[in-house]
Order: sequence, then structure tokens, then C-alpha cells
Amino acid sequence: MNIQGRSSTDTGNGRNGILRGVTPVSAARRRVVNNVSTDPPKEDTRLGPANTILQALDHEQFLRLRQFIKRAHLVKDQYVYQQDDEIDMIYFPETAVVSDFQILEDGRTIEVGIIASEGAVGIASAFGSCRAANCTQVCVSGSALAIGRDIFERAVMSDPRLQRSIHAYLNAQVKQLSQRVVCNTFHSVEQRFCGWLLTLHRRSRRQSFTLTHEHVARVLGVHRPSVTYIAQALRDRELIDYGRARLEIRNSAGLEQIACRCSADQSALQFVH
Ligand SMILES: [Zn+2]
Repeated sequence: MNIQGRSSTDTGNGRNGILRGVTPVSAARRRVVNNVSTDPPKEDTRLGPANTILQALDHEQFLRLRQFIKRAHLVKDQYVYQQDDEIDMIYFPETAVVSDFQILEDGRTIEVGIIASEGAVGIASAFGSCRAANCTQVCVSGSALAIGRDIFERAVMSDPRLQRSIHAYLNAQVKQLSQRVVCNTFHSVEQRFCGWLLTLHRRSRRQSFTLTHEHVARVLGVHRPSVTYIAQALRDRELIDYGRARLEIRNSAGLEQIACRCSADQSALQFVH
């Protein structure tokens, strides 16, 4: 498991320049790697993993893999992969939430997917070596279980139940992506903002987040003043509250009334298995 090797090829490429205000790519990656525990997650023997895909492993299979599984603490704004990076580790979030970003030539970004405890970062590589389709960045700090791609591929090949679980998740990801296309084309920024907050709330099971208007603007692919304008209106209606790099949901039912249906459909991803 060569998780240290990635930093040796990390050149902190030019794309980082467009991500002003967040941790540089190279430093962020090193911190992700350094936060991967060297100890297997002992408590998992008793409780099982808190990730839906890993829960598809039968108990004996999980015990065999356990020696190769390490726990990572993913910190907000850290990059797990940049677009086109070769995937050498697969990360299974437990409490962390990770965003998939697409980056345009002019530096603008837009979020195209969210990965939480129902899924995994780099899971497409479970059936064969491949590169990251998107830039993946930690949105909500938390824990994840990490395992070498090649080791996990061998486990998948010998476990039809695990294969079915991963196929179900990949199909759900395709649906999520299709929904994003529709949402980004036809629904207002306010609807998308509220829907994204609700999705984040459901996936993380949290009410408050370390979040800036700049980050939300990157997620929605809009300019920051648009986010600030909408956030002020939502705060006036006591649906949210926010301060310096902090945002709290105060009335999720009220946000539901504004959000498009896309958020409810995307939140259903965690129940597909
Ligand atoms: Zn929508």
C-alpha cells in the first residue's frame, strides 16, 4: 500500500492557482496521508464499518481485509485527489463528506457530486486501475476508512455481494450526475443553494458547518455576491444563520419549501443498497 508515494509525484500543478483561499494541493495531500492511522480500526471488529459499501462485506471477508484497512481523518478543504490523478487508495467515508468538483479552463468550479458514508472516493477503480474523473475535496471534516486499490480489487473479484453493492452505488452516482445536469440547467440558484444545504445536512447528519460563502459559490458555480444575497434573505426568514466561516441550518422544513425536488432525490442515494 503505497499511500506515501502520491506526494512524490505531486507537483502542486497550476490548477491550484484557481483555488484561492484554500489549502495548497500539495500540503493538503500530505496532511491527508499523514492522518491515515497506522493502526487498523479496532472497534470495527465489534461494530462493523460505518460505511454502506463496506457493510456489504461478509464478516469473514472484512476480518481478512481488516489488516489492510486504515482510518483517515479527513480535514475540511483537504484534497483527496486532483482530476486525472491515478487512484491508489479508495476512501470510504464514515462521518466525513467529500465533494466531487469539475474545474473549468477559466478556473471556475462546480460541484458535480457528494460522497458520504453511502459511498467511496475512487470506487470506480475497484474493477481496474483508473484515474480520478473529478477533483475531490473534503467538505465536512470527519473519518474515513482507506484501503489500497489493488487489495480492494482482489476482494471485489471474489465477492459477488460486494460487486452488487458497488454496482448499485455506481448506478446511483450516474443518477445523481444526471440529476445535477437537470438541476443546474433548470433550477434557480436559491433552489439549488437550499437543496445543497439539505443534502449536506442529511449526508452529514449535522445542523452546522464550517462553510464560507466563497465555498458555496464554488459548489454552485456562481459568484460569491449571489450567495451572500440569498444567504441574507434566508437568514432574514430565520431559515439559516451564519457567521465567519460558519453556517447553521435553523429550519430545514422551511428550506424544503424553497429547494427543488432534486435534493430529496439525491438524498435517497444512501438507501439504494
Ligand atoms: Zn434542482
